[in-house]
Amino acid sequence: MAIMDKIVIANRGEIALRIHRACQALGIKTVAVHSTVDRNLKHVALADESVCIGPAPAAESYLNVPAIIAATEVTDAVAVHPGYGFLAENADFAERVEESGFIFIGPKPETIRLMGDKVSAIAAMKEAGVPCVPGSGGPLGDEPEVIAAIARDIGYPIIIKAAAGGGGRGMRVVNAEEELDTALQLTRQEAAAAFGDDTVYMEKYLQNPRHIEIQVMADQRGNAIHLGERDCSTQRRHQKVIEEAPAPGITPEQRAEIGAVCVEACKRIGYRGAGTFEFLYDDGRFYFIEMNTRIQVEHPVTERITGVDLIREQILVAAGEPLSYRQEDVQVRGHAIECRINAEDPHNFMPSPGTIEGFHTPGGPGIRVDSHIYDGYRVPPNYDSMIAKVIAHGHDRDTAVARMRVALDEMVLGGIKSNIPLHQWLLKDEGFLEGGFNIHYLEKRLQDGAGPER
Ligand code: ADP
Repeated sequence: MAIMDKIVIANRGEIALRIHRACQALGIKTVAVHSTVDRNLKHVALADESVCIGPAPAAESYLNVPAIIAATEVTDAVAVHPGYGFLAENADFAERVEESGFIFIGPKPETIRLMGDKVSAIAAMKEAGVPCVPGSGGPLGDEPEVIAAIARDIGYPIIIKAAAGGGGRGMRVVNAEEELDTALQLTRQEAAAAFGDDTVYMEKYLQNPRHIEIQVMADQRGNAIHLGERDCSTQRRHQKVIEEAPAPGITPEQRAEIGAVCVEACKRIGYRGAGTFEFLYDDGRFYFIEMNTRIQVEHPVTERITGVDLIREQILVAAGEPLSYRQEDVQVRGHAIECRINAEDPHNFMPSPGTIEGFHTPGGPGIRVDSHIYDGYRVPPNYDSMIAKVIAHGHDRDTAVARMRVALDEMVLGGIKSNIPLHQWLLKDEGFLEGGFNIHYLEKRLQDGAGPER
């Protein structure tokens, strides 16, 4: 008997296929719910059943809660896996799933709600002993004098952030007191318009941090473990481009220490399932900025270095099973990096949807490709432009990078433009090869005129 009978995959693209594969390996049947333009997705063809839940716009399909609940009911499924993006961090959706009598493969709705509001998340984390960025420690009121005093206390530059913010929006850096009032007003207005909530808070602006995050997993029996860190400092416009694990220069002692802090926090808040604590890392110290209460795009690098199948664990703990690993079972082996392959122009980053003409995936030792595309598949313009993830593993960083270079040189992706040339350039860039750079590195290099050849 399978651990669950049937799971609805409430997502699309590579992560939907990834979830389908994990279900198959566990003997669980799958239901693909998809939009009208996504009838030809690979996982829709492979799933045991499929249900069209609406037209192309995500608001009418992948974000259409009643349609997804109805699809779960009519197919007699027992659980819903939300993947990442779309409804994955929507507490109301998780609640609806549970109220309808199904299992939500993720944390409890109240946990999603707690961590979804950055002010309450930071308060909870502080209480649990997680190091946070020096800041206002709560929402800013409306007395300019008080706010100015808080800023002076923290020390400029500071950053004003929306409590409900996400996707890199609703933030503003303030360099000096005379800019404070205007910045405050603008951020409030933006937050109200974008998130329907004008609550803002203040943090010290760290000028050249690295982005390092800790993967955690918790079951419903009080067990929690961490699976080490990932370095996601290769970013453009706050979007991750390359992720790697472990983070260059982080020692086993540092990993164990920050990992234990995250595990303790998970236990305190009764966390369930997979999660990520995101930190800015500066001057040898970790500063918590937010928690993602879902599986992440970059989870495969952690899978490669630990051997843990994170989606499988998500499903098992959602079914009430204990974690398959104790902390001491988790060993970091070698180094893994992931290149996000996007359907976009590698020079100006404009999306490049269209029909794939010729697609050959690379292979060989240490190479993994997670992708839903195939020869003749049409990349629709309606969704995120990521069409594949190439993951390379080796006994050390240099080997992983070398294997990734070979893999990308071997990869054939015709008919549309992709950012493969950007990756190929980066994988030969001296600063990249050194590792341990900050989150501004890629943008600075591009600003300086470096980049893939035209
Ligand atoms: P979002 O939920 O929108 O992704 P985050 O809080 O994760 O927002 O911040 C996104 C990015 O903004 C970070 O990765 C970092 O580049 C920048 N950032 C946020 N807070 C700070 C800070 N206190 N100092 C410096 N950079 C910051």
